[in-house]
Amino acid sequence: MAIAVVNPTTGETEEEFTAHSAEEIESRLQKAQAAHETLRDLTYAQRGVWMKKAADILEAEVDELSKMMTIEMGKPIAQSVAEVLKCAKNMRFYADNAEGFLADEPIDDPSKVGASQAYVHYQPLGVILAVMPWNYPMWQVIRFAAPALMAGNTGVLKHASNVPRSALYLDTLFTRAGFPEGSFITILTGAAAVAAVIDDRRIKAVTLTGSEPAGRSVAARAGQNIKKSVMELGGSDAFIVMPSADLDRASTVGVTARTSNNGQSCIAGKRFIVHTDVYDEFVAMFSEKMAALVVGDPLDEATQIGPLATEGGRDEIAELVDDAVSKGARVLAGGGAPDGPGWFYAPTVLDQLTPDMRLVMEEAFGPVATVYRVTSREEAVAIANQTTFGLSSALWTTDASDEEFFIHNIDAGAVFVNGMTISYPELPFGGIKDSGFGRELAAPGIREFCNFKTVWKG
Ligand code: NAP
Repeated sequence: MAIAVVNPTTGETEEEFTAHSAEEIESRLQKAQAAHETLRDLTYAQRGVWMKKAADILEAEVDELSKMMTIEMGKPIAQSVAEVLKCAKNMRFYADNAEGFLADEPIDDPSKVGASQAYVHYQPLGVILAVMPWNYPMWQVIRFAAPALMAGNTGVLKHASNVPRSALYLDTLFTRAGFPEGSFITILTGAAAVAAVIDDRRIKAVTLTGSEPAGRSVAARAGQNIKKSVMELGGSDAFIVMPSADLDRASTVGVTARTSNNGQSCIAGKRFIVHTDVYDEFVAMFSEKMAALVVGDPLDEATQIGPLATEGGRDEIAELVDDAVSKGARVLAGGGAPDGPGWFYAPTVLDQLTPDMRLVMEEAFGPVATVYRVTSREEAVAIANQTTFGLSSALWTTDASDEEFFIHNIDAGAVFVNGMTISYPELPFGGIKDSGFGRELAAPGIREFCNFKTVWKG
């Protein structure tokens, strides 16, 4: 894939970039290693000052940065602004909490292990490779970078090839804030070069956010090298609506859950599983609200849905819908791409799905919702769990027994009750099954790339 900015609103190539040479990558890895040797011995307070300064820079530059992101990958401008501000919040969160999350952890009774004192001491691993996707070009990276740098690790970013301006912005952000040169750097390179970087002895671990095939490849390579990895992969989250739900709210939030980021979110509610008692009412409300969304230029503040980020992504979503419709799915809203330039796709709702349709098991990475009618909570959970993914889920009910049943039985990294899945700095984030392993955010996120050093004193 060429490293280039291709504006998804127009389909025009705006700028092409040359990949870094092997020599340039070598020089950057050397800098990252040297920076780690400095950073690991600094205080949390010092790293925190720089982290907060980096947050200040993001906030001061939010307007130009948001516009750059929207031109690169097409998300509505208000969502780009919100993404940048959320990054700043996460940076301050780790600046304030890293020291507490990584404080020594004494065991309760050291005499049981024959010690006068015994504790876990957290230490950074070193240079961490981060392979990142385009869908949240700042957030996915900062979600990793803020805890990594606060722990004393350094980061080498291989960003998606279609967001090189974001990649280069992040290349200088942390040094502009005061971090030593090399603390967080970008290598401009395609996916094919990643394996050799994982093999490099200076890389101590790797994190990937992206698709399942990319995850399989990178996790396998890390495994061959006996290096730690964290995988944040795809999802096909269930959004379950039970009879006691507030249908008006559930349908409004459901539309946001499905179409935020133009439908290209790993944690989007993608499969709507609705109890038959409220099916017709919910589906009518939901389809009407989906059809009413304003599709257009993402730089226009009034736009709610912009184009998909790439032509391939738009073609993929069209193929999934066409496959389902050709096999008998009913179209309740949308169902196709509008005429004209750019990679737009109409917000779409389909029901009457059958197991032979690809959409039943595959991730729909665009504004396409599928709806399933169920007659019991057992049937609902069976459909929720039938895909190979297990990222998150949402449940709408006011019945305590339903709530307990679903929280206990849904196979996913999270359950959000009467709300939609959102990532917060304070909550651990990550999936199970083919959605990956490991956690980002909160205390588990900063510990992923630390050595849990056991200290025993006689
Ligand atoms: P992608 O094609 O997997 O790309 C993600 C990153 O991996 C890019 O930097 C890409 O580089 C690189 N890459 C791709 N194949 C690779 C390989 N074989 N070896 C090494 N690197 C490789 O994913 P995407 O299309 O950008 O993102 C969409 C996917 O990400 C969806 O499945 C979505 O659900 C998932 N996602 C998950 C989370 C989460 O937290 N769980 C969050 C966001 C997105 P190039 O661009 O150079 O190909």
